[in-house]
Amino acid sequence: MSDDLPSGVERRGFDGTDRLATRGEPVYGEPTDGEWRAWNPDRSKLGAMLELGMDTGLAGGETVLYLGAASGTTVSHVADFAGPTYAVEFAPRPARDLLEVAASRPRLFPLLADARKPETYAHVVEADLDAIVQDVATRGQARVALENRRFLADDGRLLLAVKARSEDVTQDPGTVFADVREELEEEYEVLERRRLDSYHDDHLGIVARPK
Ligand code: SAM
Repeated sequence: MSDDLPSGVERRGFDGTDRLATRGEPVYGEPTDGEWRAWNPDRSKLGAMLELGMDTGLAGGETVLYLGAASGTTVSHVADFAGPTYAVEFAPRPARDLLEVAASRPRLFPLLADARKPETYAHVVEADLDAIVQDVATRGQARVALENRRFLADDGRLLLAVKARSEDVTQDPGTVFADVREELEEEYEVLERRRLDSYHDDHLGIVARPK
């Protein structure tokens, strides 16, 4: 396990267990210790990637585009340690919860939008972002990453969680991951990949940078 964590993310003891934690208002009933709140890797693919020691390149303070923000479980932690964080979610119900999460986080900007249509939020999201975090449960996950490449700086990082079942429930996950990787490599160089199964069944974590 790497302790190369972004500034603003620490390993701290909660009820005798060492956990990742960030500083911010609690969001999903997670344990807290003063201003720190535990980051549960069972509920967060990015949390699992950090917990597994993947080299995300995140140092803290980055500009981030987060695709598939849902109710804000993970993006709330990201906004606790990152800089401006643009959170895209297309389902109105979780997006409502996201607004509440953003109320105490001045650097978190929720966007009710479809991640497959980046032209609908291009006027809001700043250019040359340091990182895209993607966790969209949709078919065509590689295509979403390719479409949003336009926002990423040349030395930026894509932190992608691929859900095999969203692509094809009948396919072997290994085959799905290979196909997603091949498509991704049209525009990205894959730096690291790791199965997240110990926290999330049939998910692959990928760290990539633009070619
Ligand atoms: N990343 C969240 C977290 O860790 O807190 C969980 C995300 S959940 C697994 C996937 C989310 O992707 C859902 O909320 C779903 O509505 C959203 N989603 C799926 N397709 C999308 C799209 N095309 N554009 C935006 N959001 C999408």
